[in-house]
Amino acid sequence: MPAVVEGLKARIHCPMCTRTVEGLAVPAVSLGHSRLRVQPGQKCSRCHASLDAGYVLELLPETEQPKSGKRAA
Ligand SMILES: [Zn+2]
Repeated sequence: MPAVVEGLKARIHCPMCTRTVEGLAVPAVSLGHSRLRVQPGQKCSRCHASLDAGYVLELLPETEQPKSGKRAA
């Protein structure tokens, strides 16, 4: 059975509104190269277009990830 890949918070470029929004990225390994891709099924928080066609600009720092020490804002 396939391993469950947990998304990491990242900045994702939306090709529809050309804005950078926060979303989830998942690591994808192909031909020995590890790269990040947009977790399928997400929608842009600005224009509600599918982010599947977007691309990951960068991961947010570990402090922004949900797993590592959640603090009340
Ligand atoms: Zn958008």
